[in-house]
Amino acid sequence: MYIKSKRILHARVYRWALARVTARMAIDPVCNMTVDEATAAATTELNGMKLYFCTGACKKAFDSHPERYLSRERR
Ligand SMILES: [Zn+2]
Repeated sequence: MYIKSKRILHARVYRWALARVTARMAIDPVCNMTVDEATAAATTELNGMKLYFCTGACKKAFDSHPERYLSRERR
């Protein structure tokens, strides 16, 4: 009885942790890769919106032509 309830609790905590992780994922607007916001290699801010990049190269590409990547993302 005790072991059974402990297992249910563990499953609940695991599911909660998983949801937290997926909620923190952002899309790199340059290469469309999923980027973990906590470990993103580079970030930039545009119109109060924070964007995350997988590498500094993607950030550089975005910074030189932000409108190109933003219009592609909205489509
Ligand atoms: Zn990228």
